[in-house]
Amino acid sequence: MNRRILFVHAHPDDESSKGAATAARYVDEGAEVVLVTLTGGEAGEVLNPSAAAVAPEDMGATRARELAAAVAAIGFTRTYGLGYRDSGYHENPEDVPEGSFARTPLDEPARRLAAIVRHERPQVVVTYPEDGGYPHPDHIMCHAVTMRALELAEDPAADLDEDTPGADAAPWRVAKVYASGVFPARRVTALHEAMLAHTGESPFAEWLEKRSDRLAGPDPDALVECGDWFERRDAALLAHVTQIDPDGFWFGVPRDLEREVFPYEGFHVLRSDVEVVRPEADLFAGIEDDDGRAAPDLGHVTERAG
Ligand SMILES: [Zn+2]
Repeated sequence: MNRRILFVHAHPDDESSKGAATAARYVDEGAEVVLVTLTGGEAGEVLNPSAAAVAPEDMGATRARELAAAVAAIGFTRTYGLGYRDSGYHENPEDVPEGSFARTPLDEPARRLAAIVRHERPQVVVTYPEDGGYPHPDHIMCHAVTMRALELAEDPAADLDEDTPGADAAPWRVAKVYASGVFPARRVTALHEAMLAHTGESPFAEWLEKRSDRLAGPDPDALVECGDWFERRDAALLAHVTQIDPDGFWFGVPRDLEREVFPYEGFHVLRSDVEVVRPEADLFAGIEDDDGRAAPDLGHVTERAG
């Protein structure tokens, strides 16, 4: 089977912090692993105290270079950048600036992403949970755009963006759709306890205080073993020089300890055409034919809002 998986991410660096080791593993196993990045990340600030200052107007170009280096580290087969303007982090949706991604009418990016989905014909798509995974407006938008694009991709009557490759391709239904779960409770708890036991300190202490709501969440439906690909994930993270502090949170747990305690990345099923046997070890589990369709009903369309 030609396995094809497409990741949809909001900003440069999200591909490295969510599912990067899984993506690298699938690359090495011969799957086609495609990345779509929706915004340029130009609203980001320099978050790494050891990185040089970057003028705000140069941030987009800087992050494009960082993304290219991270893509090389992970080994994505193909990448697409849709080039929307980063909305910046705002807790109040009214503060999101006009002209930024989260203020773009949903179907505009969805019609472009749908064309890419038809072009790439992935059996599996990975995006964010409905709440974004954390409340960045671009992450919430990323989920909504992905789900709408998947509806349009399989709808023979949909009017897709003509300037995007795949707009004229045959409708395509993605068999399995996942949300990446970066910090499943099991992972945080396992790493936190292991760090306390080994060093008496844990980089997750503050996280547990701020994000305790997340600990009540469900276990991931899929746990992909990818400890052997943590170096590739780390190299990708470090490629985002302005965003990732090599001495900071992302590198707070020694690699060998992480590999011993939790050598997985977790994913939640958003929808699946095939039976899900939990916990899955493989995002392609249950998909058998090359078309990636569990049932031969190409015309099947999911519930549509509005
Ligand atoms: Zn992001």
